[in-house]
Amino acid sequence: MLAPFHRCVECNDVIDNPVCSDCLSEKMQALVAEYDSQLATKITSTSIYGSSLCILCGKNMALCPNCYSKDIYLFLQKKNKRVAREFLARFDFGLRKEFH
Ligand SMILES: [Zn+2]
Ligand SMILES: [Zn+2]
Repeated sequence: MLAPFHRCVECNDVIDNPVCSDCLSEKMQALVAEYDSQLATKITSTSIYGSSLCILCGKNMALCPNCYSKDIYLFLQKKNKRVAREFLARFDFGLRKEFH
């Protein structure tokens, strides 16, 4: 039986728009590659098996897009602030209110 709500393993919020880190990391790599192709290769997905299903590829996942994006954003901040800003503009999973 499927539970009615699937919660993120990191923030414990209900994942209402599940997109797995594999799908997200592809999009993120494409964005970062526009500015820094070397840095783009450093973006990796964090596959954590869970009961939520990605709306794009159908894979099981347990980490919400918000937490994954936050991890990548903090990583980019350390490496390249300009890219981090562009990232925030395009992948806004509630990050803007946290970091601005
Ligand atoms: Zn989360
Ligand atoms: Zn996916």
